[in-house]
Amino acid sequence: MDKLVYLFLPDDAEGSKKDIKILGGKGANLAEMCNLSIPVPPGFTISTKVCTYYMKTQKYPPGFQKQVNKAIQKIENVVNKKFGDVENPLLLSVRSGAPKSMPGMMETVLNVGLTKKNIEGLIKHTDNSRFVYDAYRRLLMMYSDVVMEQDSDSIKIRLKLEKILNDYKEKHNIHSDNQLSKQDLIIICSLFQKCIKSNFSFAFPDDSKTQLWGAIEAVLKSWNCERAVKYRKIENISHDLGTAVNVQCMVFGNLGGSSATGVGFTRNPSSGEKKFFGEWLQNAQGEDVVAGIRTPNPISGPSKLSLEYCMPEMYKELNIVQRKLENHYNEMQDIEFTIENNKLWLLQTRNGKRNGIATIKIALDMMEEKMHSSQTMLNKILPHHINEILLPTIDYSKSVKTKIISHGLPAGPGCATGQVVFSPEDASMLNNQGKQVILVREETSPEDVQGMFVSSAILTTKGGMTSHAALVARGWGKCCVVGCNAININLKRKEFYANHHTIKEGDWITLDGSRGIIYIGKLDLVKPQVKNNIIFNKLLKEIAKHKTISVRANADRKKDSINAINLGAEGIGLCRTEHMFFEPNRVAAMRKMILSTDINDRRNAIMKLLPYQKNDFYKILKAMNGMPVTIRLLDPPLHEFLPNQNDQIIALAKELNVSESRLRRIIDDLSEANPMLGHRGCRLAISFPEITEMQTEAIVLATAKLLKEGLSPTPEIMIPLVGSIGEFLNQKQIIESTIQKSNISKNINIKIGTMIELPRACFIADEIAKHADFISFGTNDLTQTTFGFSRDDIGSFLPHYIENNIITKDPFQTIDTSGVGELIKIAIKKSKTTNPNIKIGVCGEHGGDPESIKFLVGAGVHYVSCSPFRIPIAGLTLAQTGKK
Ligand code: PEP
Ligand code: MG
Repeated sequence: MDKLVYLFLPDDAEGSKKDIKILGGKGANLAEMCNLSIPVPPGFTISTKVCTYYMKTQKYPPGFQKQVNKAIQKIENVVNKKFGDVENPLLLSVRSGAPKSMPGMMETVLNVGLTKKNIEGLIKHTDNSRFVYDAYRRLLMMYSDVVMEQDSDSIKIRLKLEKILNDYKEKHNIHSDNQLSKQDLIIICSLFQKCIKSNFSFAFPDDSKTQLWGAIEAVLKSWNCERAVKYRKIENISHDLGTAVNVQCMVFGNLGGSSATGVGFTRNPSSGEKKFFGEWLQNAQGEDVVAGIRTPNPISGPSKLSLEYCMPEMYKELNIVQRKLENHYNEMQDIEFTIENNKLWLLQTRNGKRNGIATIKIALDMMEEKMHSSQTMLNKILPHHINEILLPTIDYSKSVKTKIISHGLPAGPGCATGQVVFSPEDASMLNNQGKQVILVREETSPEDVQGMFVSSAILTTKGGMTSHAALVARGWGKCCVVGCNAININLKRKEFYANHHTIKEGDWITLDGSRGIIYIGKLDLVKPQVKNNIIFNKLLKEIAKHKTISVRANADRKKDSINAINLGAEGIGLCRTEHMFFEPNRVAAMRKMILSTDINDRRNAIMKLLPYQKNDFYKILKAMNGMPVTIRLLDPPLHEFLPNQNDQIIALAKELNVSESRLRRIIDDLSEANPMLGHRGCRLAISFPEITEMQTEAIVLATAKLLKEGLSPTPEIMIPLVGSIGEFLNQKQIIESTIQKSNISKNINIKIGTMIELPRACFIADEIAKHADFISFGTNDLTQTTFGFSRDDIGSFLPHYIENNIITKDPFQTIDTSGVGELIKIAIKKSKTTNPNIKIGVCGEHGGDPESIKFLVGAGVHYVSCSPFRIPIAGLTLAQTGKK
């Protein structure tokens, strides 16, 4: 018979942390804690195999029930109570626990085994009748909702029972559940039972065994409930894993003043600070903390409400346990605990979710604390964590007249703006219409995940830093403010009020999730300054130690170049010069050149651009301070410099003093059926060599000036869109003779190379390499020309292609290894046969995409070049992938 049930008893467990696949995360860690002699209520874990078997067959595997019954007997012996006993009943919790964390997505049933028959027995043993009836009330609510409700995503019975409870409280002027007396609870329980019976036409099962098997089955089924399936899709979790089920002896944090419950993190999940952080509630059950029903108090610190202050002995013990767990797992842990009559119990430990800033700080701190190596530290960081460190903040220089609506707790990092919505459904609907929304709720629950996911930020009026909204948002690195209790939501009118402000659905607000502030209106946001960011700079240093090849930037302005250096760039791999031609003065000169009828006019017109270009290159080369700067000569077709709208054409004809009809004829002549394959790149410069001459001269003059200033500029000249050796040699000759005419040629060797953007260029890479100092793959155009897909309108059919698995990924985002990738490999191999020292780079968008980078390194490129904000991500990928 297959082993399907694994016991975890004090100091003795049948599994360990290695068994996540069969025991799920929660079960494996409960077993591990038992093995570490940490106090865990005894119990057993039902293997994920049972779930996968049940999902396929709607039956339990053979022998399963027998194993469960045997395990229960073992627990009974340890705790000296009996399941279903009238005198001394054992109560159980039944919880889900998948191999991959899916917080709150599946079901839990607590207090299983409590029936009318054993209520008196439990009262005798606990000496607390109010508590027992409260436990029964909770069981009725949970069981009817989770087990009896057929459709596990429906919430009908829960709402009915909540209404009964709220009506009762209102009628008797009772403000919180805590104030309900034993008598109140007895009445409420009987009202609940009546309601359950009339709702389902059968009664709540007042039998311990029926309850247990009902709960196990419901938890297994919850693997496939709608919200769990949605969550797995979002998080890319396999639907085949199945959930384990943890059946565990109940312990109670709601037995009075010497009982409590809470959740904690071994380090701060928002800032990463090494300080035990968490929240607790006295005389409460775990769900009260997580659901945000009561606002919890801090665990640590001098506050008179902290656990440290109120229960110092318990705090001391818990503090030792949390350190032990972090040291054992070598990871920041997120723990759940209960104190029952001054006895501490751990209910869960897992690697704590944290935002990007905290992830990076914790990984670096643990490396400095010698808990792990520098390489392990890097492997803990994901690209989105780096994005978060570079997250937007409010631009206070522009947003001077900010009006604060209210304050809450800073649960998720960064700042965001959006239009207010009050339901996750509205959030999804408006998001589909392309709107940016902020979801405002009293509190969130797992049903809301889809709406939360599409919102740019989340704001809740209840709950603490470990509430559902806070945990989920932090895990996603999403801006979130919680517990903002000054805000009153009126769902009927779709508006909220706070501090004399009324905010309606659709109004813009701005959230500062790092400080917990809510502002009126759409404030300007800025990307953060990374220059003096200590954590970020430390990370860059570690990345630099492990990076196998260098990362350059695609930048064409001084400002971007400086930004790129701050983000770790080691040069510029692509300076697109056409971006420099569009300022009014410059485009006028360009247009004059296009309209010129003879070579002298054309040369005179283009030479007007020389001082501008010289200054552009001077500034960039100076900013890059000796690092290589690859300048690409003019690439786009000429028609891009001419207007296409009637009124603009008329105005330009006047400005240039040419007839409208002549201008129209020229525009017509320049228009191409397929401009991206037309008269552009080196083809244009072959027709108009003055362009190459002017640009080369500008580079030479800028370089000469910097050399005179004692600097060491390193420009490289890159010829675009070469497809034949003749094209390359034509342009190379013009560049070389222009350099030779200047007097810097003896002081500096300006490298000359080409972009490889056409399949033909890949096949003649050996010929090109004989004459080129470097080649750089322009993978945007190489993808375009290999697939024959237009990079500008692939969007019209790509979603359909991906949905129908015709191709699996957007090839303009992630390199197509079997087509474009193969061409790259051929080109690299061929180029090395004639020029073993040739420098090989990539400057298309793929240079910043982690998956593509891994391929490109394998193919043998020497550097990648990408937009400045992707540089650290590219660096991280390189540092993670390779040995030097
Ligand atoms: C390319 O084609 O990959 C490239 C970098 O050039 P551009 O995007 O400017 O066409
Ligand atoms: Mg290109």
